[in-house]
Amino acid sequence: MKFSTKSVHAGRKPDPTTGAVTTPIYQTSTFVFDDYNQPKEHDYSRTSNPTRSALEDALAALEGGNAGFTFSSGMSAISTTLHLLKSGDHVIASDDIYGGTYRLFDEIMSKFGIETTFMKLNDEEAIIDAIKPNTKLIWVETPSNPLVNITDLEMIAKIAKEHDLLSVSDNTFATPYFLKPIDFGIDLVVHSTTKYLNGHSDVIGGAVITTTPQLAEDIHFLLNGLGTNAAPFDSWLVLRGIKSLPVRMKQHEKSAIAVAEFLFDHPAVDEVYFPGLESHQGYEIAKKQMQGYGGVVSFNLKSDVKTFLNKLDLFLLAESLGGADSLVEHAATMSHSSMDPEARLKTGITDQLIRLSIGLEDVDDLIEDLAKGLD
Ligand SMILES: *Cc1c(COP(=O)(O)O)cnc(C)c1O
Repeated sequence: MKFSTKSVHAGRKPDPTTGAVTTPIYQTSTFVFDDYNQPKEHDYSRTSNPTRSALEDALAALEGGNAGFTFSSGMSAISTTLHLLKSGDHVIASDDIYGGTYRLFDEIMSKFGIETTFMKLNDEEAIIDAIKPNTKLIWVETPSNPLVNITDLEMIAKIAKEHDLLSVSDNTFATPYFLKPIDFGIDLVVHSTTKYLNGHSDVIGGAVITTTPQLAEDIHFLLNGLGTNAAPFDSWLVLRGIKSLPVRMKQHEKSAIAVAEFLFDHPAVDEVYFPGLESHQGYEIAKKQMQGYGGVVSFNLKSDVKTFLNKLDLFLLAESLGGADSLVEHAATMSHSSMDPEARLKTGITDQLIRLSIGLEDVDDLIEDLAKGLD
């Protein structure tokens, strides 16, 4: 099946009892046993639930993995994945990552004896130099949040395989419609389904897609043991969202390209960060490994941030991204406020950085709104 067909059908079939075309919301905590010591397919909804299983199978098919698992948030998917590690282990992570992921490594996992080196992941030799005897995992986010930096996944997977490390890629920004990390040899894909996969700004959720029976068993063991699972209703909303993923992503990208070009030419704007611009750091790699550039555009404003933000009507001042509604945010005080200011500046997240999530409104209206703020 081609991608769009999988988006609609993978993991789902009409309900066997009623013929309902959409997967029902199995809003139940528990399932009756057939007999003594004979559970049915599902026995308790923390362990598994039919609505959640349909979503998990769909995501595994879209990413090309062997199994999928869904969680109560992106952070819960990421925290669960990090429980594959143990005290004394070392992680290499890209320095330009979602603020909450940075905080999890820097302030929470560090308390349990897991040490992280944050670095740019664009230089093969520098990465190999950073590997220590206790390095176990390499964590990538491409395109990254908020600078939409691009990392060469083939290179990362090669280093990981040669040094016996687990490779993880956060695919939230690209979605499998534009990028399939597993095709390049990445071991685990994580998502905040809150963003494009659900696509309507009405769910908090996360996912992990695995590539081997052992990883699938380990992630499911941790999900069940930690109790980080997704709820049936949230799973149902994301299942509904992914049916339209291909058409939404195409539109997000088309408008994002137009917005990036508009900003690039505007005198009130310094750098524009969008992987589809030839001037972008990762343009060549993005062109090679992605089928499209996504819907997030960031830029440095020359003048006062507050004045600009107050002039906007259509772009809502809010964290998050990937929904039908266009959003604008100031990384330093919002999505990346959990990063310490020094680390922020080191990665290039200045106080002038604005991140746009280009929604599904008409692009002419979006550009008019931005023009008001910039003029
Ligand atoms: C939002 C986000 C997360 C965290 O997901 P939540 O659903 O908010 O917990 C992780 N990674 C990336 C790239 C994100 O954008």
